[in-house]
Amino acid sequence: MRIVPARDGGLARLRLVGGELSAHAARAVAHAARTCGSGVIEVTNRANLQLRGIRDDAHATLVEIACDAGLGPAAASGDDIRNVMLSPLASERTRALAARIVEALQADAALHALSPKFALQLDGGERLAMLGHPHDLWLAAIDDGARYAFGLAGTMPRSAADAPASGAIARGDVVAFVTTVLRRFLALATPEEHRMRDLLARVGVAHFLDALNFDTDVTHWRRAPADASLRLGAHEEPQRATWYAGAQTPLGRLDAATLDALADLADSFAARHGDGRLVMTPWQSVLLPGIGAHNARAAREALQRLRALGLATDPHDPFARLIACAGSAGCAKSRADTKADAHRLAPLLPAHDAANVHLSGCERSCAAAHPVAVTLLARAPGHYDLYRGERIVACNLTIEEAAERLARSHADA
Ligand code: SF4
Repeated sequence: MRIVPARDGGLARLRLVGGELSAHAARAVAHAARTCGSGVIEVTNRANLQLRGIRDDAHATLVEIACDAGLGPAAASGDDIRNVMLSPLASERTRALAARIVEALQADAALHALSPKFALQLDGGERLAMLGHPHDLWLAAIDDGARYAFGLAGTMPRSAADAPASGAIARGDVVAFVTTVLRRFLALATPEEHRMRDLLARVGVAHFLDALNFDTDVTHWRRAPADASLRLGAHEEPQRATWYAGAQTPLGRLDAATLDALADLADSFAARHGDGRLVMTPWQSVLLPGIGAHNARAAREALQRLRALGLATDPHDPFARLIACAGSAGCAKSRADTKADAHRLAPLLPAHDAANVHLSGCERSCAAAHPVAVTLLARAPGHYDLYRGERIVACNLTIEEAAERLARSHADA
């Protein structure tokens, strides 16, 4: 299990397959955060969890708690390879396939040499899915799940302008195909090439695909649009005849007491009492799935309880629209305290604007792997350059000046 040093102590990453966390495991994570670290828990933009402020003398205890809760890897060196992103609404069928992929990757010791950042996506065509994160290898269900289209070093094509899928394979061949692709990557990549895009820039896609068997009749396939707003609010899960309630953690953070309370909520609203689970999402939010059969009222009640815990449930809530990296309190590279500045910016954001705003302490943009409408890139403590997409529109603004700028452009729009 990876515990890396950060400005505020050890940073422990807990990988959740498909973002899923049982209520029991959530309580164990809350306990670990309290006893081994500062109590701060983060939901990452890969739907994993991070615990901050882990003391040097608490690493072994943390690993023991996580493993006892079923959150450890099958092989000690296979922790990082569990990077398979799913939709938070992935079906049991998709989750079962992802579990088989993760199992095969962990069982193949040669693949443990992959970079911790090497990332896979398995898409079942769900209406809520993160389509903006590039992945080293993505696979998307087509033909009612009988086959999977795939692509390398990018995102699924959504419009005619996007690069098409590289090919397709039968569902039964997915696990073997994934391991073959990753082994080929390791065989061809130089020690400096950690990601698929690095390798393809040198050898080209055609050469990489040369040695693989797949169908090529998917150049016209495009991924149907998804709706990120479905991560918030109460919605039906039609294929399961249940409901879910979704809410945003403010700036991706929870404290241990809130995670305990979420676990209690998951248990009390689960269709079978005590069988609760949470699903973390790549928007750093959380879903309470499996709420009683056809029970919209229970889902709305769950939503109220999530609001009472301080989570945002409306897409217009400032904390549903703001993301910020660890900032100077947690990262030595940061030029500003982005989290504290985001808290100052929240009440100043124009109401009824749905544009997302990202505060980044440096150019690495850890908090946003997907394009964000507005970025405030730190220059110095409390001062930011304002970008719309990739275009810089103002320099060296205070938080109040940035808020004024955003309000003005919202009024002009
Ligand atoms: S974006 Fe930069 S400052 Fe922020 S956490 Fe990442 S490396 Fe640190």
